[in-house]
Amino acid sequence: MTETTPGFATLSIHAGAQPDPATGARITPIYQTASYVFDNAEHAAALFGLQAFGNIYTRINNPTQSVLEARVAALEGGTAALAVASGHAAQFLIFHVLLEPGDEFIASRQLYGGSINQFNHSFKKFGWNVVWADGNDPASFEAAVTPKTKAIFIESIANPGGIVLDVPAIAAVAKKAGVPLIVDNTLATPYLFRPKEHGADIVVHSLTKFLGGQGNSIGGAIIDSGTFDWLKSGRYPAISQPNPSYHGLNIGETFGNFAFAIAARVLSLRDLGPAISPFNAFLILNGLETLPLRIERHVQNAVKVAEWLEKHPKVAWVNYAGLPGNRYHELAQRLTPKGAGAVFTFGLKGGYEAGVNLISNVKLFSLLANIGDVRSLIIHPASTTHAQLTPEQRESAGAGDDTVRLSVGIEDAADIIADLEQALASQ
Ligand SMILES: *Cc1c(COP(=O)(O)O)cnc(C)c1O
Repeated sequence: MTETTPGFATLSIHAGAQPDPATGARITPIYQTASYVFDNAEHAAALFGLQAFGNIYTRINNPTQSVLEARVAALEGGTAALAVASGHAAQFLIFHVLLEPGDEFIASRQLYGGSINQFNHSFKKFGWNVVWADGNDPASFEAAVTPKTKAIFIESIANPGGIVLDVPAIAAVAKKAGVPLIVDNTLATPYLFRPKEHGADIVVHSLTKFLGGQGNSIGGAIIDSGTFDWLKSGRYPAISQPNPSYHGLNIGETFGNFAFAIAARVLSLRDLGPAISPFNAFLILNGLETLPLRIERHVQNAVKVAEWLEKHPKVAWVNYAGLPGNRYHELAQRLTPKGAGAVFTFGLKGGYEAGVNLISNVKLFSLLANIGDVRSLIIHPASTTHAQLTPEQRESAGAGDDTVRLSVGIEDAADIIADLEQALASQ
């Protein structure tokens, strides 16, 4: 290879990996071990004191996991990454580094439902207070800033509606407030959108979705953009002050532009424990190798399905930013020119009954609560994931009674459309 930076497809296959130094195995092995033998007492002490990099215990790091981390860091253009047990674990660890009891963070109201629950309920127990803003209105983030604000959290393309956010405008608000912008890039993937290039200081992923891509493993990742100046800010003591659990080591001074990733590992992952299994890391690494090919096909199929649905007499509306005329189309063309992802919603004229009927009659589509699989997936939020909410709450969450959510897979587009056609014809 030449000295030029490899392209995205090359990085998807090679970044972070090399033939196994011990065996020559070409594929990164599953290092299924809990711990690692130290060379001697000095080596052990250096590892424990963070004076040397190396493997100690698989709760903190593992060679299979390390390759996955190097791969996602390269794809997102970050300085370092941390792979953990799930997307939710990744979010938990990020906020554990950043927040003290009584602190606030601002989050877009347009988020994955699980994140809304995590922020509204579980985070409250730690004294971490979410303040909600409107993802469609960057000024609402600015209006929500208080002296207690420590971070802003958004999704680049938001679940479930496929809404595209004006990330650069919200990044400008974060910069002015002197807080890091955290972007959940799960729906877009770095193939369609790289948040760091638009001002994100921390990127978070559910690896469970498009990055793993085959619906076989739960995992999450935190990517440090290396852009936030923790020492200058001085408001994040876990990074900028001497650490009592490492004999006064200052993580910000010692690790510079990857200090956040180090803090997330050696403080939060070490103490809270949601490590990814080496087997899951292996499966997700294999999935990543085909990320660009898969996303290209996901997007092509999503456009075809959305165009077909738009013309169907039983369909009332289609919300897909990839369609001309959509409220988010211009923003998508500017920020995600390669496509607006493959998750979107549409509404049936027949309302709730028609939605239930559709999901009961599909054959190729799987009725389940996931996205980002090679298989096409469908859900009717009002009768499933959002059933416990009032009709008003469902409406504001983008999950009204008539709403159906698709995650369009990479089967033949004609077969995906034929399945929807027969299911709609049967009502
Ligand atoms: C699924 C998902 C999560 C949570 O990830 P898990 O791996 O399920 O914990 C967070 N954000 C988005 C956008 C998701 O789709």
